Amino acid sequence: MSTQEERKNLEMLYEGKAKKIFRTENPEQVLVYFKDDATAFNAQKKGSVADKGAMNNAISTLIYQHLDKQGVPNHFIEQLNEREQLVQKVDIIPLEMVVRNYVAGSMAQRLGLEEGAKSPHTIFDLCYKKDELGDPLINDHHAVLLGAATYEELEELYQITDRINEILKELFLRADLILADFKIEFGKTSDGKIILADEISPDTCRLWDRETGKKLDKDRFRRDLGDVSEAYHEVHDRLVKALKTA
Ligand code: UDP
Repeated sequence: MSTQEERKNLEMLYEGKAKKIFRTENPEQVLVYFKDDATAFNAQKKGSVADKGAMNNAISTLIYQHLDKQGVPNHFIEQLNEREQLVQKVDIIPLEMVVRNYVAGSMAQRLGLEEGAKSPHTIFDLCYKKDELGDPLINDHHAVLLGAATYEELEELYQITDRINEILKELFLRADLILADFKIEFGKTSDGKIILADEISPDTCRLWDRETGKKLDKDRFRRDLGDVSEAYHEVHDRLVKALKTA
């Protein structure tokens, strides 16, 4: 099961931009394979980043293990090897929960603000997960209209998301990184429980060096800043160190 050879016999359920999902012999579990492929701007920009799959697999594993210790319900089961992890099978809720601690990215553009200022409060943006529409920004009422979640479920999602933000901000600060913003997704288990799902990595977080403000995330790829692979390695190494000294 854990070797690449055996994986070749597994049926691929889905291929995304940065990952492939395979069926396993257990109907409640799927295998996630992390690719080096990178896309941005709704796949208009495409490329590859050396070691990105291995780094994101390792980084996401460290983060999920940490969140699990803090009691956050999540899909992570175990890392199998450099590129693969085993997770609980869920139906992904078609919503992206974006959390912003600093002004950056699409919000800076949309509101005509300069990137880099700290927000006095946590900002939550809800997006509808729909590639054809470019994952548009929506509000709670739209989410309910779309049948993506009920008002009660949204309440629960915001609460868990807020808690995850507090845990991650603190973890990244220990690694001398500012968590400027990030995106998470949730899924529903076969018995209807809502749990955190999908990767958490420099592909899904904006991470800035605490001292210099240097970007150590996917913006290096999006904006052609160079040293993309080095940035992912750096985040990984800092997290390992931060978690060791915890
Ligand atoms: N993000 C993501 N997947 C998406 C869109 C955004 O992981 O499809 C992350 C992104 O890396 C950043 C945060 O969510 O950490 C906020 O992204 P933003 O809305 O500013 O969009 P972007 O500038 O990435 O287009």
